[in-house]
Amino acid sequence: MARCRPVPISANRLPRTIPQAEALKVLLAKLGIKLDMAVNIDVPRNVILDRLTTRRTCSNSKCQAIYNVKSMPPKKEGVCDKCGSPVVQREDETEAAISHRLDTYNKKTAPLIGFYDKEGMLLTVSATSSEAVIAAIKKKLSA
Ligand SMILES: [Zn+2]
Repeated sequence: MARCRPVPISANRLPRTIPQAEALKVLLAKLGIKLDMAVNIDVPRNVILDRLTTRRTCSNSKCQAIYNVKSMPPKKEGVCDKCGSPVVQREDETEAAISHRLDTYNKKTAPLIGFYDKEGMLLTVSATSSEAVIAAIKKKLSA
């Protein structure tokens, strides 16, 4: 099989629904581009909730430093180390908001797992570190 150069696809343009995935398939076929794989990163719900609900962000729009109340808290509670502005929990990172986002994902985006599985290009990685995900993708690409 001839190997072409990789074509990056913007993360903002990744399909999030079946109709979007079908539209992308048609578009790529027109362009003569073949997807190597679709990666399903399988992270337990409680891990996602824990990671996102413990995240805090500097309220200064020019700074936006990211902290984590468990693993990387600011030196002084609630105050940004870099600029001294208040460090806050974003509205979309509360437990209720994350739960809602996960429900939306399960309803609209999770069906893509079956779609890409049927296309024969699904790689599912059960991992909670980006290193493990990258290693799995590299292994699949070199297989
Ligand atoms: Zn700051």
